[in-house]
Amino acid sequence: MATWREALVFAAMSPPQPWSCHFCGGPVWFTLDRKDYKYRDTPVLHHKDHDHGNNDPSNWVWSHFGCHTSHHLSARHAQGKARGAAKKKK
Ligand SMILES: [Zn+2]
Ligand SMILES: [Zn+2]
Repeated sequence: MATWREALVFAAMSPPQPWSCHFCGGPVWFTLDRKDYKYRDTPVLHHKDHDHGNNDPSNWVWSHFGCHTSHHLSARHAQGKARGAAKKKK
C-alpha cells in the first residue's frame, strides 16, 4: 500500500473519477475525507510489481481496500510464505 501522500499525487494525475479497481474492475471513488483505511471500498494505491520502492506512477493502480487486501493475502499464500496462521483473524 502506498502512502497517503502518494495516493494524493496519483489522484491529482488520474483522469476524472470513477476509476476502476485493478482487481475487480468496479468503480473506485476517491475522496479526501476518507483517509482512514477501514472501508472495503476505500481506494488504495497498489504497486503493480509489488515493489513499494518503485514509485513510478506507471507502476501505480487504484484498487479497493478489500480487493487489495485479499490480493496480497492470496499472493502470499500462493508463494507459500504464509508462515503459519499468525494472522488468522477474519
Ligand atoms: Zn475492487
Ligand atoms: Zn499492493
